[in-house]
Amino acid sequence: MGITTTHKPHTETVHQWDGASAPYLSVVVPVYNEEETIPHLYRRLTTELEHLGLPYEIIAVDDGSSDRSFALLRDLARADRRLRVVRFRRNFGQTAAFSAGFDRAQGEVVVTIDADLQNDPADIGALLAKIEEGYDVVSGWRAHRQDPFLNRRLPSIIANRLISWATGVRLHDYGCSLKAYRLEVVRGIRLYGELHRFIPAIASWQGVTVTELPVRHAPRRFGRSKYGISRTLRVLLDLVTVRFLLSYGTRPMHIFGLLGLLAGGLGMLIGAYLTWIKLAYGAAISDRPLLLLAVLLIVLGVQFMSLGLIGELVVRTYYEAQAKPIYVVREEVDGETWRGSQQ
Ligand code: UDP
Ligand code: MG
Repeated sequence: MGITTTHKPHTETVHQWDGASAPYLSVVVPVYNEEETIPHLYRRLTTELEHLGLPYEIIAVDDGSSDRSFALLRDLARADRRLRVVRFRRNFGQTAAFSAGFDRAQGEVVVTIDADLQNDPADIGALLAKIEEGYDVVSGWRAHRQDPFLNRRLPSIIANRLISWATGVRLHDYGCSLKAYRLEVVRGIRLYGELHRFIPAIASWQGVTVTELPVRHAPRRFGRSKYGISRTLRVLLDLVTVRFLLSYGTRPMHIFGLLGLLAGGLGMLIGAYLTWIKLAYGAAISDRPLLLLAVLLIVLGVQFMSLGLIGELVVRTYYEAQAKPIYVVREEVDGETWRGSQQ
């Protein structure tokens, strides 16, 4: 997960944009079966962005929708050069959709927002103001989240507390999609599973400045949420992985090896002591619990050492396996161009 912390100097913001030069802002929208919302989303988003008066692009990523989402987006993109549509071959998940957006974003600042208008495009300006203040990541906080309590908000509260505690990066709402990043924070980052929500934590560990901003949140008007409680569980498992990879990921042998050496060493010492009292004093040792402990510790030591070794191999494989694509693109539409491509 490579994140660079170098800062680009701010470029002058241009107020009239022709769609040809690089935009200042890239808005990334993951879309999965959102046909009813798309016309509203497009109208609300473009109105707000035009209101901001900054050169922007919108990258909508159709995550394998089975409804008319792609057709609607494609038609909009044909008429609007600032809208670019990436269509996945199948459903790869929201995180993969964000990744595809990050891979294509040309703006200095990237904003992610959900397609269902639960996030309010009117908040984008406030996020950008924080970026202008000098923050590298601004994370939305749905202070008044409009989702069911028991199966959505409660598990989130618990997950957010746990993530805060485990990562040391104190945010109230990791799960909020409405976030703004300087491009270099997300460029080249490899995301999968539920990892997108950990970008602020990963970035902050790398020395990037992160802040939080309360944002509005609306109930879903059209369609259905794509998630249930199982996502919280997946988030928690991903948290363990992230924590491990970032802290010790590259050298498992250093933790397991150390534990193995300690356990094995202690076992050997006890064994030596027992051998000594047997040989020197002829003491009976076969009925002593200490013998059992010595044997256990030695076995444990060997186990830990082997685990460390396997861990090292797995980590290496993990890094090498990174060539595996996170998503596969079926086609892309942007302005006048159409591309069928594989990535
Ligand atoms: N989404 C996606 N791929 C998926 C699931 C969801 O691109 O596999 C998109 C979805 O279209 C929406 C956003 O991710 O724009 C958030 O999804 P949803 O509203 O279902 O989540 P919730 O707001 O209920 O947490
Ligand atoms: Mg939603």
